[in-house]
Amino acid sequence: MIEIRNVNKYFGDHHVLKDITTTVNRGEVVVVIGPSGSGKSTLCRTINRLETIDSGEILIDGVSLPEEGKALAELRSDVGMVFQSFNLFAHKTVLENVTLGPRRVRGVGRKEADERALELLRRVGVAEHRDKLPAQLSGGQQQRVAIARSLAMNPKVMLLDEPTSALDPEMINEVLDVMIELADEGMTMIAVTHEMGFARRAADRVIFMADGAIVEEAAPDTFFTAPSSERAQNFLSKIL
Ligand code: ATP
Ligand code: MG
Repeated sequence: MIEIRNVNKYFGDHHVLKDITTTVNRGEVVVVIGPSGSGKSTLCRTINRLETIDSGEILIDGVSLPEEGKALAELRSDVGMVFQSFNLFAHKTVLENVTLGPRRVRGVGRKEADERALELLRRVGVAEHRDKLPAQLSGGQQQRVAIARSLAMNPKVMLLDEPTSALDPEMINEVLDVMIELADEGMTMIAVTHEMGFARRAADRVIFMADGAIVEEAAPDTFFTAPSSERAQNFLSKIL
């Protein structure tokens, strides 16, 4: 479903993605972890072309990432992305945040878009806030709206880049629960997160990155109990 082949990326002289190769299959949940600056966000951003790559290839369903234009817009709408900072449209209501993409990009009519949005908002538990502005919601609620907004585009894959790290502790679980539900429903997901509970519960595979490279890839049980590299051992000893 997503094939990342020998991807290299530089910011100036800084080699931030070093020969990254991995495959994420349909329905698979992959958790990416690693120290700050190891390239986790950059990797996510290359997958929907928020960042260009300098060499290598990224294929989605066997098709190489388009450079620009309509094909790129279509690909972006197939790849949902949720960020640490919720990035909701501040001057639009919760409902409008969720219906905007389907209406503008997919040409869905208002009634149908509203119905689908409400269904998604119900699913993530924030339907009663449909007419509020993002600033009137808690962080956890905003992040759940952001997830609903991504889902409204019927993405083939969801990229979640530290979706809970800006949240107060008591709000983390309400977002993780939504992520776990998505995983259980078979959504293909790549999640950058240091939430080990989520990784153990939902991930099929953990990718450990350091210094721009994939150092280790393993099932969560193996990775957390017996990481094979010293870098991963060191990293885990700091966060567990
Ligand atoms: P964190 O855990 O702190 O979010 P990360 O693993 O997501 O870290 P990235 O944000 O992918 O790391 O950054 C990888 C490296 O690339 C870092 O050294 C960062 O400083 C650098 N970098 C990221 N974005 C840019 C940019 N737009 N211009 C220049 N350098 C960048
Ligand atoms: Mg990051």
